[in-house]
Amino acid sequence: MDLTRRTLLSAGATALGGVALSGRAWADVPAVVRGVLVQENGQAARVTVALDAQAQARTFFLSDPHRFVIDLANTRLGAGQTESVGAGVVRRVRYGAQPGGVSRLVLDLEAPARLLRQELGGRRSPELSFDIAPTAPFVAAPTQRATAGRGQRRTIVIDPGHGGRDPGAIGVTGVREKDVVLDAALQLRQALESRGQYRVVLTRDADRYIPLEDRVPIARQHDPDLFISIHADSAPNREAQGVSVYTISERGEARAQNMAQNWDIDFGDAPRTGVARDILLDLYQRETTNRSAQFAQTVIPRLGEVAPLLRNTHRNAGFMVLLAPDVPAVLIETGFLSNVTDERRLSDPRARQAMAEAMARAVDGYFAAPQLMAAGA
Ligand SMILES: [Zn+2]
Repeated sequence: MDLTRRTLLSAGATALGGVALSGRAWADVPAVVRGVLVQENGQAARVTVALDAQAQARTFFLSDPHRFVIDLANTRLGAGQTESVGAGVVRRVRYGAQPGGVSRLVLDLEAPARLLRQELGGRRSPELSFDIAPTAPFVAAPTQRATAGRGQRRTIVIDPGHGGRDPGAIGVTGVREKDVVLDAALQLRQALESRGQYRVVLTRDADRYIPLEDRVPIARQHDPDLFISIHADSAPNREAQGVSVYTISERGEARAQNMAQNWDIDFGDAPRTGVARDILLDLYQRETTNRSAQFAQTVIPRLGEVAPLLRNTHRNAGFMVLLAPDVPAVLIETGFLSNVTDERRLSDPRARQAMAEAMARAVDGYFAAPQLMAAGA
């Protein structure tokens, strides 16, 4: 996982959110800052401000000392919000009310920085997001973990679908999904390990049955940065052909939130239950969804170089293996065993190796700097 160094600043936001929402009919009712999340994101720090309604933001940098200021018009801070530690180049965040109904967030910076990206409005709740990166490499304060992406080995969990008594899809000439996806996974492991910069874990490395619900818990034991499930498809329409890549759907996200009690996510100082935790979980999950989509967008063109792509290649589904709210995850359908051409391709070891190499290059691309800046909400 890369979602380290996070901070919740929103203990007091709880009961107010719902009341303010129902009173939103009056334009002069200030939006409430429900929470602020600071995460390391490669060399950048991503600052997400969760609000209960849209708000106008004005931002600027100050020097001596270096600061980044976010002024939010017609907003107020949840009770008890004053300050918190940051992450990456953001040392800490301080808050205060300004005259004229403005809430000011002051980010104290470790070094000169620039704004790489800002975004207004999330899919489920109005929020602001800022990526702030140092203009030059800087030495992080000793309390901070080594900045992600610099000499740090990433952990990739590869999940070959099915196995053992569950053969998965069966091809027109009898090729079994569990066999071809295991080989593809082993090839991907080899391709990644040969690079010397990844730790690779397989949920199964032999023809073994692993229950669906065990796969994500197995993966999470290893604190993965990326989860790749490999499958082969089957469809009643024998013409259906090509690779597709799935990331979590909105319904899947809702399901994941309902299951969140089971995930045991480290939220730092955040409360274990309640609205504040829900907000934090939501922020986490959105970030994870962004990252999953980013990997999908990286791997699809790579796979397209070595295999046919199904139309609308990037798809959404609520697959069980995609539900962890804190692990970016994709499920790659490598082709259709119900299609003669795809079955021939999937049963060809060289074609599987080519796909594995394409996936490995996508992993390289995904983790390369500048990391994940294009991810949209
Ligand atoms: Zn499958």
